[in-house]
Amino acid sequence: MSAHIIDGKAIAAAIRQEVAEGVARLQAAHGVVPGLTVVLVGEDPASQVYVRNKEKAATTIGMNSQVIRLPASTSQEDLLALIAKLNADPTVHGILVQLPLPDHINEEAIVLAVDPHKDVDGFHPINVGRLHTGQSGLIPCTPAGILVLLDRAGIQLKGKNAVVVGRSNIVGKPAAMLLLSRHATVTICHSRTADLAAEVRRGDVVVAAVGKARLIKGDWIKPGATVIDVGTNRVDDKLVGDVDFESASQVASYITPVPGGVGPMTIAMLMKNALTAAEAAVQ
Ligand code: NDP
Repeated sequence: MSAHIIDGKAIAAAIRQEVAEGVARLQAAHGVVPGLTVVLVGEDPASQVYVRNKEKAATTIGMNSQVIRLPASTSQEDLLALIAKLNADPTVHGILVQLPLPDHINEEAIVLAVDPHKDVDGFHPINVGRLHTGQSGLIPCTPAGILVLLDRAGIQLKGKNAVVVGRSNIVGKPAAMLLLSRHATVTICHSRTADLAAEVRRGDVVVAAVGKARLIKGDWIKPGATVIDVGTNRVDDKLVGDVDFESASQVASYITPVPGGVGPMTIAMLMKNALTAAEAAVQ
């Protein structure tokens, strides 16, 4: 058996198209163009690529996109002052401070400073709490993208065993909460899980968000399961996931590739969050 590949590139393109239509509708109805501001502190090469891609995506779908680039020496006080200014600016609907920040800046203080209504990363504790209590709010982009991939592939979640490997605040935990909100029975695994293979074997849906190349083997996968691979690991200059694609794709019924699975969804969902924030601002 060979699994059906969930095409994240195509699904992300469809989301971006839908967001572009939403942007046009909002402008026609309210004369408002969603504004997304990304703040980049320092010169981290990976962050620079992410920020460029975010800027390009926002511009392409008709948003006002602004990138504020600050030197690595920027003080926490100055960054907080900038965030306060952006919070007060009605033309800015979404604010994203690219992480990681230089060591002398306390990330928690920065995440807390962003107005939760403009927190398009969904990292503010208010939005985290809203997700955990089942209220609407801005949801972290990667987990939100995972749910869209599952939905668009037609995967039913109600009553299914979902196993999430990884418990980070940006992927594992929110992904588990979203699966729970869809009535899956959710297991969250981490580095101290006693028998990871046995846990994964019970999963009708497996979400791998670990950061360890090909950790999850094909013979851990329940036949017919759906496998969502969030991992992005560089091996010999190639991007590989947390799942051993070759063996897992022989057992699963649906699987995401790396690259071309979850990756493209993250920016598409960021655009969706920026639109959602702008729509909420005109209510
Ligand atoms: P973190 O490093 O923050 O978290 C990794 C999690 O995996 C931790 O909860 C850790 O457990 C767990 N873990 C580590 N080793 C093992 C192991 N051997 N067995 C079981 N669990 C283990 O990573 P992120 O959540 O930020 O990212 C995960 C992966 O997803 C990375 O490859 C990252 O690059 C990728 N990613 C991709 C995105 C995309 O857009 N495609 C976006 C975000 C991330 P513990 O808590 O016990 O330490």
